[in-house]
Amino acid sequence: MTGLGLKRRIGRIAFDAGAMLLFAAGVLLLPVLLPAIAVSEAWEMRKLARTRCTRCGNRIGITEIRRARQDGIAQAWAAIGAVPALWRRRRVVAVWNVICPTCGHEYTYSFHARRQGLMSKGPGSDGAMSPGHGA
Ligand SMILES: [Zn+2]
Repeated sequence: MTGLGLKRRIGRIAFDAGAMLLFAAGVLLLPVLLPAIAVSEAWEMRKLARTRCTRCGNRIGITEIRRARQDGIAQAWAAIGAVPALWRRRRVVAVWNVICPTCGHEYTYSFHARRQGLMSKGPGSDGAMSPGHGA
């Protein structure tokens, strides 16, 4: 009788411990994941900043990338305010509008198509350009 009760109690403790462990792992992983996301974003931004303008050949620069990012975030937040349910989707399709500080040529950058890097917006361009080229 007592043996069965004990077994059940141990099982219960094991279950609780498992749940606690999962919870702890989630809590512990969060501070690890957040900087990882920040680091990958910083790396992405530096890569974009090195991208040369297809029209004038000058680098876009981190200042413009930062501004475009802030703009993109503002847009995403505006979208959240309008349609909360679509938050995730809107965030994913958030597009940065990057403008060459030298000649004013416009580019778009989206996380959706981030492999393509900056996409030229203007006419008479081949469109995609690979970031970090010719550095
Ligand atoms: Zn330019």
